[in-house]
Amino acid sequence: MFSCHSSLGRARGLLRPLGTNTLRSYASPAKKANAIDFSAMETKWKARWADAPSSTADPSKPSYYVLSMFPYPSGLLHMGHVRVYTISDTLQRFRRMQGYNVLHPMGWDAFGLPAENAAIERGIHPAEWTVKNIAAMKEQMSKLTIDFDWSREVRTCDPDYYRWTQYIFLEMYKAGLAYQKEAVVNWDPVDQTVLANEQVDAEGKSWRSGALVERKKLRQWFFKVTDFAEDLLNDIDLLTHWPERVKQMQRHWIGKSQGAEFEFSVLAENVSPLKVFTSRPDTLYGVQYLVVSPEHELIKRERLPAGQADEVLTFVEDLGKVQNMEEAEESKKGVFTGLYASHPVTSEQIPIYVAPYVLSDYGTGAVMGVPAHDKRDWDFCRANNVVDKIKFVIESPIKEVGVTEEPTEPFTAHGILTGISGPYKGMKSKEAGKAILKKAIQAGFGHSATQYRLKDWLLSRQRYWGAPIPIVHCPTCKVVPVPQEDLPVPLPLDVTFTGKGGSPLARATDWLNCKCPKCNGPATRETDTMDTFVDSSWYFMRYTDPHNTSLPFDPKIASERLPVDIYIGGVEHAILHLLYSRFFSKFLYKQGAIAPSPNKLPGNGEPFNVLLTQGMVHGRTFKDPVTQRFLKPEEVDLTDFNKPKIIATGESPSISYEKMSKSKYNGVDPTSVVEEQGVDPTRLHILYKAPPSEVLEWDDASIIGMQRWIAKVLKLSSTAGESRLKLELPELEAMTGEERDMYRTTHLTIKQVTESMSTSFGFNTAISDLIKLSNCVSGSKVEASSPVYQHAVQSIVKMMAPMTPTVGEECWEELGEKESVFQQEWPKWEDKALAKDNVECMIQINGKTRLSVNLPAALVGNTEEIERRARESPVGQKWLGEKSIRRAIVAKNGELVNFVLQN
Ligand SMILES: [Zn+2]
Repeated sequence: MFSCHSSLGRARGLLRPLGTNTLRSYASPAKKANAIDFSAMETKWKARWADAPSSTADPSKPSYYVLSMFPYPSGLLHMGHVRVYTISDTLQRFRRMQGYNVLHPMGWDAFGLPAENAAIERGIHPAEWTVKNIAAMKEQMSKLTIDFDWSREVRTCDPDYYRWTQYIFLEMYKAGLAYQKEAVVNWDPVDQTVLANEQVDAEGKSWRSGALVERKKLRQWFFKVTDFAEDLLNDIDLLTHWPERVKQMQRHWIGKSQGAEFEFSVLAENVSPLKVFTSRPDTLYGVQYLVVSPEHELIKRERLPAGQADEVLTFVEDLGKVQNMEEAEESKKGVFTGLYASHPVTSEQIPIYVAPYVLSDYGTGAVMGVPAHDKRDWDFCRANNVVDKIKFVIESPIKEVGVTEEPTEPFTAHGILTGISGPYKGMKSKEAGKAILKKAIQAGFGHSATQYRLKDWLLSRQRYWGAPIPIVHCPTCKVVPVPQEDLPVPLPLDVTFTGKGGSPLARATDWLNCKCPKCNGPATRETDTMDTFVDSSWYFMRYTDPHNTSLPFDPKIASERLPVDIYIGGVEHAILHLLYSRFFSKFLYKQGAIAPSPNKLPGNGEPFNVLLTQGMVHGRTFKDPVTQRFLKPEEVDLTDFNKPKIIATGESPSISYEKMSKSKYNGVDPTSVVEEQGVDPTRLHILYKAPPSEVLEWDDASIIGMQRWIAKVLKLSSTAGESRLKLELPELEAMTGEERDMYRTTHLTIKQVTESMSTSFGFNTAISDLIKLSNCVSGSKVEASSPVYQHAVQSIVKMMAPMTPTVGEECWEELGEKESVFQQEWPKWEDKALAKDNVECMIQINGKTRLSVNLPAALVGNTEEIERRARESPVGQKWLGEKSIRRAIVAKNGELVNFVLQN
């Protein structure tokens, strides 16, 4: 037996003398109180795990699928990764100990722009760059003792994977959900290539050539996600274990609005009426102009009045040259087309404008201008002097008396219709909207309509490093899907990267030219590749059956694992990735490719049951309070962690916690942290410092607290191990009072930690509870040889093991056990153990609380005994006197008894 850390070192060879660590500049210096050699402990257990893996899939056990979002292989693991994998690894180890057949896979979201940029800038082939980065990140991950099932690893850039991405695309195509149409892209006129939004700078210039980016229409591929809009919206209600914030973001993105579509006839020869959607039919009388998108069919020379056509067409052409697309949508610019429409109820002539803020793919590509009741219309109307006087057709039911001035802003709320609305004057907005719509239906100029903000998913990318779209273009047969047996359409590796002249695929002539699968004539391949969001919309399904060579996955195997039980990842993916994954999953569910048992939540083909969105990791940031300059680590003296000094000036820097970035010198390299502080203390620190969904303010200084606790549990374990007599746990009644207390605290902790791990994910609370239990054990008078003591320490070790795998194993060994701690069952609590020895029982006499008695738990509810004890006390005697009890009522689990006396 040993009582101090150094003896542990000699005994186990895991310690090293104090002060051998080189501390990082931001770490609290010279405070490494304990000297456990975590690195040696990690090496020891990694070797043992390699010899005898603790996780073996057992299909007879119930399935549990823990998924963390797979990373982009940038080559560098950051603290955010460490946080998400620590959470997922903790959960999967916990579930495994609970007896589940756990799936905890990992892979790589390996296609995408950075690899292609590296090829252009540094001449490294994207494939080579990606493979190198994956190797580097795997090496970093292996340091974190995260137990991923690498036998299921997927890489989206492998032909074995993207073959099935192409297969699913073709299934979508067959179902009519993949189609082509023209869409506007960012076009670099110098490099003759399409740019992603992130390659266009704030001034609308290309990242590479510096040229002003143009809007250009190209024929592109879309997924008809809008067909699923209603399901995607309604089924949000099934997602009871998703954060409310994420659900709100999904609802907003889908953006359902109900309203009406009205027709305005155009006062020109051979021009069909303009259809406009509005969510506010009650404002129809306030329509003072119409606006169409620059891409609208009205904007053609033959449809525009001769005098106006040049100006309009030049305006539309120039739009592309001055701004990128996103700015155009914010713009207030517009020009009169020279055309007028007739208002369907007032027959007034109203002007038709063209403006970029109207999106061609939202609704009908035309909107009604109601400046009095819409902020954007108000701004547009005033910027372009569309009308002299703005018509307010709705007013607030509450009016300020005596105000006659012109309103200075639009009135966008619901209200009461004014006299301008003719027969609808005095009606409330909702009621008027219905009445106007009814009139429109009768008169034949409108009908009710539903509109979604959600657009179809533009999945074409004019890029090289992505999954080729499996389509062939034939001069005779036009668009021909590649037969599924000919998949994959491989990405040719022998291409050159210049960043100019479009996608390298368009120049890979050997690959480009092919035979038409239908007529066998000469044809060309589609050169667009798929958006990487396509790859990541189904990777979690592939994990269930990763080596399948005849299907993306076997429906039966996938259905046993899906939906994912818990999905952990950053909130930045809360919209697109989750929405697209839901779309894919719902599509495949409808196709019968996945058919989970109907009692599995959430149902309706929803892919993820619990969603845990982890917060960011912020770094400690120092600024010079005078110059506001960010300070480098070497410019700050951190001898006193709480009172840092700027070395040059002796002043105190301003300290904040901010998103880690190179320019703020506040980044933390996870690899060096775990090397210096140990993996398990780092894991514990991550889990302890903040609940998973909140921002984690990183500082190394407080890791020491976790190291101290680990040292304490190691000591408790060896104390228990050395004194162990392998005795059976006595019955509750046979325990001493001290044992009883320890046993109760142990079981209370088991209950609380189990709940924290399975429902609230409050790992910080779980750790506090375990720290309290270890304090209870170390401060108790119970002998270490007592089975109650042994039981308490074993429980602590089992419960901390998922968070600290190597320490868990080490302690378990100290306890004299041979098997891995991960082969142990997660401890269960006994309700009767939670009961207190004594209960304070309140006594009422005729409904009034008069006294209390302290009862042994066994006597709770025993009214005769309670009466006897009450009569023994002076207070009881005073109230009970000689009277006998007519009735005794027991309440609050026996903690309250009401004696009703005989009169
Ligand atoms: Zn053909």
